[in-house]
Amino acid sequence: MKPSLYALDMASLEQVVVSLGEPKFRAKQIWEFMMNKRVASIDEMHNIPKKLKDKLSAKYQLFDMKIVKVQGSEESSTKKYLISLRDGHQVEAVLMKYAHGNSICISSQVGCRMGCTFCASTIDGLARNLESYELWEQISIVAADANVRVSHVVLMGSGEPLDNFEAVVEFIKTVSNQEHLGIGQRHITVSTCGLVNRIDQLADEKLQITLAISLHQPFNDERSLVVPVNKKYPIEVLMASVDRYIALTGRRVTVEYALIKGVNDTREHAGALVKLLKGKLIHVNLIPINPIEERDYEPTLKKDVLQFKKMLESGKLNVTVRRELGDDIDAACGQLRRSFEQN
Ligand code: SF4
Repeated sequence: MKPSLYALDMASLEQVVVSLGEPKFRAKQIWEFMMNKRVASIDEMHNIPKKLKDKLSAKYQLFDMKIVKVQGSEESSTKKYLISLRDGHQVEAVLMKYAHGNSICISSQVGCRMGCTFCASTIDGLARNLESYELWEQISIVAADANVRVSHVVLMGSGEPLDNFEAVVEFIKTVSNQEHLGIGQRHITVSTCGLVNRIDQLADEKLQITLAISLHQPFNDERSLVVPVNKKYPIEVLMASVDRYIALTGRRVTVEYALIKGVNDTREHAGALVKLLKGKLIHVNLIPINPIEERDYEPTLKKDVLQFKKMLESGKLNVTVRRELGDDIDAACGQLRRSFEQN
């Protein structure tokens, strides 16, 4: 299979263009089409001479991944993409249109080895890490399909981003460059289930991204049952690492809390969360979960979500409820990939 142009940086693209016997400035024009004009193929680069497009197409393709399925939920302006990678593995990306811009949730790994019990992505384990270019290629292929500019990125699709640390850090540094996709670091969120060694390493990078911690439980014994990495890095160790992260970066951290009926949505859980998070530069994001066929969990009822939110707010925590993505589009991570593979 021919390699993707998105795997090249600007200097390598210039070398390719020159090696094809064309002037160097053409590389800048090609780059502009890739980064800003959302073309879907080399052929659509209209002011590039046909001769160069032919020579380029003989050696490269614009994307080495392809969209195999799109599920749209018109009323919520959310579209979920199933993307097939060059080796046939599949990942998911979700495009969400908000008033403040278009946000995309992308995958960082094929599958995941973290074993969180509420998550469909981990059921078949980890197949492989994505390369850094495959992260920004997901953004570009979806932006080209929907013909929209993507302004915000969330690494919360399949995979534990910090388990693919080097590629994810390279991704952040690359796409936030104005010469590349130009997505500001403050518009990038990296979500982790709590790999403390990697959070410490990330803090030392002093990036301006938002770090999101998938906490989901304030009690160690219960958290270890749903987020197995908690056995290695229990909550008090995780929170010490979060404190260090905040001190070093000055950035507010988000705590993700997926509400599961009867499992983590009681008054005791709310009280323990307040005790754990009060006074910290932390924002709590409550997520009403989507039911997963293979898992025996039910989402907390809407009225109980609001009640839980109230309890946290009365403990002086800063709380929002994440917009529901809709069960109609299999929006929990890993669900679309699995439903596609099973059909
Ligand atoms: S929730 Fe995230 S870290 Fe946990 S298994 Fe799923 S993809 Fe992996």
